[in-house]
Amino acid sequence: MGHISWVNSVTFSPDGQILASGSEDNTIKLWRVSDGNLIRTLTEHEWSVSSVTFSPDGQILASGSADNTIKLWRVSDGSLIRTLMGHTGVVHSVSFSPDGQILASGSSDNTIKLWYGSSPRKWRDKESLSEAEIDQLLQDLEQWQAEAKRRVQERKEEIRRMKEERRREEEGRRRKEEEERRRREEERRRMEEQRRLEEEKRRMEEERRRMEEERRRMEELRVQRRAQGLCEDCGQPLSFWDKLLGRTKCPNCR
Ligand SMILES: [Zn+2]
Repeated sequence: MGHISWVNSVTFSPDGQILASGSEDNTIKLWRVSDGNLIRTLTEHEWSVSSVTFSPDGQILASGSADNTIKLWRVSDGSLIRTLMGHTGVVHSVSFSPDGQILASGSSDNTIKLWYGSSPRKWRDKESLSEAEIDQLLQDLEQWQAEAKRRVQERKEEIRRMKEERRREEEGRRRKEEEERRRREEERRRMEEQRRLEEEKRRMEEERRRMEEERRRMEELRVQRRAQGLCEDCGQPLSFWDKLLGRTKCPNCR
C-alpha cells in the first residue's frame, strides 16, 4: 500500500484534504489526510517521480519525472489528462502560478519551461479551447473536407474518363475486326465466283470441242455415204437418176 522506494516530493491539496506523494518507485499516491488512507495510485510515469504539485483550484495534479516528462492528472478520478514533453533531462520541480494559468518546470537540462494553460497545445483539455480556437479548428476541418471532396471528385472524373477512353478503344478495335472479317468474306466470295466462272468456261469449251467432234464425224460419214452412193443425210441408197445427176441427197432429204 505504501511506496516501495524513496519519496521525493509531497504536497497538500489547496483544501488540505489530500496529500500527494511522488516516489522513486515511479508512482504517485494520493492520500486522505483525515485518516491517512490511500485514495489511489497513479502509475503512468516510466521513471521516478521527482515533484508533485496541485493546481490552485485543486482539480489538477502536475508531476515531474526522471522520464523527462510532466504529467497532468485529474484529481477527481486519477485519470491522465496529458503528458507534456519538451525537457531533455529529469524534471526536478513543477509549480503552478497562483492563478493556475501557468505551470513552471525546472529540469536537469538547465532550463525552466513555462506551460501556458490558455494554449491547448500546451496542456489544457479540449474543453477549455477558446471560442476563436474552436472556430479556427472548425474552419480548418471544413477546408480539409472540401479539399478531400474535391480530390475524390477529381479522381472519380479521371476514372470515368479512363473508362470512356478504354470503351472507345475497344469499340474501335471491334469495328476494325468486323471490317477485316467483312473484307475477308468479300474476298472469299470473289474467289468463289471466279472459280465458278472458270468452271463454266471449261465446261463450254468441252461442249464446243464435243460439238466440233460431232460435226467432224458427221462430215466423215457424209463423205463415206457419198462414196457408197447413199443419201448423205439419211443413208438411204440413191436412185439411178439421182446418181446420174450428181445428187447427194434422196428426194426426202432435199
Ligand atoms: Zn435421204
